Amino acid sequence: MNRLRILAFVFAVLFPSLSSSRAAERPNILFIFSDDHAPHAIGAYNGWLKSVNPTPNIDQLAADGMLFENSFCTNSICGPSRAVIQTGKHSHKNGFMNNGNSFDWNQQTFPKLLQKAGYQTAIYGKSHLKGKPQGFDDWKVLPGQGLYYNPDFITPEGKITVEGYCTDIVTDMAADWLKNKRSKDKPFMLMVQHKAPHRNWMPAPRHLHLYDDIEIPEPTTLFDKWEDNAPPARHQELEIDRHMDLNYDLFVDLTPDFDQPASQKRQDRSAWKNMKRMTSKQLGIWRDAYAPKDAAFHQAKLSGKELVRWKYQRYAKNYLRCVKGVDESVGTLRDTLKELGLDENTIVIYSSDQGFFVGDHGWYDKRWMYEESLKMPFIASWPGVTKAGSRSQLMIQNLDYAETFLDVAGAEIPVDMQGLSLVPLLKGQNPTDWRKSIYYHYYEYPSVHMVPRQFGIRTERYKLIHFYEFGNEWELYDLQTDPDELSNLYGKSKYEGITADLKSQLKDLRKKYQDNTGGEAKSEEWQKKVRPLE
Ligand code: CA
Repeated sequence: MNRLRILAFVFAVLFPSLSSSRAAERPNILFIFSDDHAPHAIGAYNGWLKSVNPTPNIDQLAADGMLFENSFCTNSICGPSRAVIQTGKHSHKNGFMNNGNSFDWNQQTFPKLLQKAGYQTAIYGKSHLKGKPQGFDDWKVLPGQGLYYNPDFITPEGKITVEGYCTDIVTDMAADWLKNKRSKDKPFMLMVQHKAPHRNWMPAPRHLHLYDDIEIPEPTTLFDKWEDNAPPARHQELEIDRHMDLNYDLFVDLTPDFDQPASQKRQDRSAWKNMKRMTSKQLGIWRDAYAPKDAAFHQAKLSGKELVRWKYQRYAKNYLRCVKGVDESVGTLRDTLKELGLDENTIVIYSSDQGFFVGDHGWYDKRWMYEESLKMPFIASWPGVTKAGSRSQLMIQNLDYAETFLDVAGAEIPVDMQGLSLVPLLKGQNPTDWRKSIYYHYYEYPSVHMVPRQFGIRTERYKLIHFYEFGNEWELYDLQTDPDELSNLYGKSKYEGITADLKSQLKDLRKKYQDNTGGEAKSEEWQKKVRPLE
């Protein structure tokens, strides 16, 4: 025993209360999570939207911590992504495979395990898992998708309605908990989960004129016609051109059509319902902001590509205005930590449930295994541990978050969790045995946007996707030479070896994660019923 250790031992014997208070020094965790925020709509990710400077506060978090460039979801859809985070298990294991499912809150989740390990836990905002949250000392969650304006919340005491803008309300709830409600003798794990920037993209009143004077850059694939893809990409319903509704999605002429029937199959009408709930003052600000733009739009009588370009501008601006609200929340919450003297011992994480198409490939929404929706942001600042401004290229997934939080807390990681703790990576280590591929499986079909079920593997260089319901469709991309995934190499000569190898790796991954779901082709009759074939 060296002299320092002897001194520490003597200190612990003489001052046991101080020694036991070390437990309270375990880091706090502030998990700020949004809905549908694509990494390429974050400045620090250096995507094509960077020039708009959409996220100064999230960029600052990256400058203070570590940004993960290869961060992916396991199933690109809201509820399932959250269920994976709660459990550290793939969708087929936690039972929440698509948004129609209900999450079994009685199962093992990381917040319950953190509570057992002595953490105080709370969640505010969008849960999207149905049912009353378990594993939280306090919670206020939006029912279902929630509303942007004057939303309801489900709380342990019953339903409440709060006037204001959802992102701001959720931020205030979290800040209030930090200031007035948490126990000061316990470390905490606080989940702040925003509805924004989910469809329908309704910005805060103060952001309605943001970006008025600029043109948002267009993605290079805005007019992609999916010519080289397997057939499913030509049978979806998420095109800006054909499926994005001027009134419903873009609020053109917002008042007269409040009660018109939805133009798109299975379309929800929450945005219209939400406008009916807005106060006359809120609606007045909206009308003042959009009416002159709508008048100019009607006068221009756009069609074809010019109409797509106009719709894209309106969509991208509203999306980025919603992002702006989230970015401000990150700034406010970090300021609150500082004000309370908690900033030095709190890990702050920013993430979102999946990526999103911001006009990429001519689309909005997510679901596909293509890069824009497969990628999710993950940025973490851990003062004194994570090197400021560092970036990791290792492949991580939302499957890893539960394990990471438990590891941070010094709690045991259950053997049935399927991901990996990111703590070594956050400490700057580069484990040589880290995963070299990820597994993906999407299930929600037939459903809104009509993106068929698919599973696949992504390695550092290649991606192999299997659309199993429609015959036997496959896609193979070389991400090094074709990052936009425009050239499907499946079945092309010279790629037989790579394909066979990826198929074998994919089989191994399905075995490793014990996924026996999917893989069966449906009958031709069923296919015709759900998808008229051209
Ligand atoms: Ca989402």
